[in-house]
Amino acid sequence: MSDDSRADDRSVVVIGAGIAGLSAGWKLGSAGCAVSVLEARDRIGGRIWTIPRHQVGFPIELGAEFIHGRPPEIFDPLNETGVEVAEVEGRSWCAFEHQLRSCDFWSSVESILSKMDHSEPDESFLDFLKRTGSRSDNNREARERALGYVIGFNAADPALVGVHWLLKEIRAEQEGEGDRSFRTANGYLDLMDAFERRIAACPNVEVHTEAVVEQVRWEPGAAEVVARTPAGAQRFTTPRTLITQPLSLLKGPAGEYGVVDFDPSLPAEKIAALDKLEMGKVIRIVLCFRDRFWDPIAPPDSNATLSDMGFLFSDDEWFPTWWTSMPRKLPVLTGWAPFRCAEKLSGRSREFVIEHSLKTLSALLKVDLRMLRNELQDAYFHDWQNDPFSRGAYSYGGVGSDGAQEVLASPVAETLFFAGEATDLTGNNGTVHGAMASGYRAASQILRTFE
Ligand SMILES: Cc1cc2nc3c(=O)[nH]c(=O)nc-3n(C[C@H](O)[C@H](O)[C@H](O)COP(=O)(O)OP(=O)(O)OC[C@H]3O[C@@H](n4cnc5c(N)ncnc54)[C@H](O)[C@@H]3O)c2cc1C
Repeated sequence: MSDDSRADDRSVVVIGAGIAGLSAGWKLGSAGCAVSVLEARDRIGGRIWTIPRHQVGFPIELGAEFIHGRPPEIFDPLNETGVEVAEVEGRSWCAFEHQLRSCDFWSSVESILSKMDHSEPDESFLDFLKRTGSRSDNNREARERALGYVIGFNAADPALVGVHWLLKEIRAEQEGEGDRSFRTANGYLDLMDAFERRIAACPNVEVHTEAVVEQVRWEPGAAEVVARTPAGAQRFTTPRTLITQPLSLLKGPAGEYGVVDFDPSLPAEKIAALDKLEMGKVIRIVLCFRDRFWDPIAPPDSNATLSDMGFLFSDDEWFPTWWTSMPRKLPVLTGWAPFRCAEKLSGRSREFVIEHSLKTLSALLKVDLRMLRNELQDAYFHDWQNDPFSRGAYSYGGVGSDGAQEVLASPVAETLFFAGEATDLTGNNGTVHGAMASGYRAASQILRTFE
């Protein structure tokens, strides 16, 4: 392909129709590019996956649920469609050492996290805790909560997650009102609808679902992208390809279903950057009950009931964190099983996962297990670890990962471009708005090559 024909060819292939791919596709399409978005699944959205409210009476999230803070990436498209947004509310309860009590979970977590220091050499969060704790530590409970938070919120292995990466994430959260969370009336379906509308307004953007990209054969200035579709192999030739696959698929192993074979392979510095980033693991379960059976429960030594419960934190070995739908008073509880808990639950039967979630609730709330089984109407979860197109929940930075996202996000020979939550440079990896920011950043990098 000559340089002249490349300059004239404003076509872009985007691999993945998650929110990063859709954000980039829309921005490129609005700028006049001819965009083909190739998506392996039979739906768009990737790790955003909502069962609509008309099926169950309220939206059920299988992937992302909360809007963390007030990121313009999410609020701008929502404002275009006038969607109703509600702030997450409710009292936090803790159930440590078999005792249920109202607690200020975040203050104790912050008292530990505030001791992390970016000017110190990077280390794992576990090493940081060991180094800064002492035998006479009377702050043991706060340290355990901080450990629970890092494992829970980041779905991370505390022996791998880097303190420098955590500090960057915390700074981004503070800048974006990340201590507040929101949901919209139809859950993340509202954002997906806003994007479907945006994309529909760009006739030059085509989204192909059930197109599993298997190979990208490339040279500077040109690539052939081969996708397996129900109609057979389809080939797309393009001067610019944007890759938005989840981190675990970029990490390989080559030859596995869903993993793209790059020919020639990606440069060594990209592989080194991939090695410094990790994929977190989570199983979240949504339990729908006949009634809000927990409303009248009044824990001992407490003059309040659980009726305004927002979150419940514990050291349970299966589902340590739970939350309600507050401010909406739905008969729904969501359980969160990160890291080792997810490892124990992934690949297990539906009955096994549901039973362990009910046993956990029974122990934490001190209610009869048979009553819970009778009260349960339905349960929803998705095993993201065994999903061939995600292979995990979301990414985090390991020890020594300073700058790894920048390397991963940098284009190769102005031909291969990279987006997706793991490539976000704003400290918001593992979030929807981080994924969107990465999509916009990659689209700008592509548009600059036309100048
Ligand atoms: C259980 C869970 C809970 C979460 N909760 C929250 C939350 O409350 N708030 C929040 O902000 N974030 C949350 N997240 C994270 C958030 O969902 C992700 O950060 C974000 O959706 C990632 O978007 P993405 O476009 O980078 O990746 P993805 O959504 O994974 O998109 C990548 C796309 O690439 C496709 N693909 C993969 N391989 C191929 C291939 N070979 N060919 C073609 N297509 C391919 C995939 O099918 C997918 O659609 C959660 C995630 C999980 C799993």
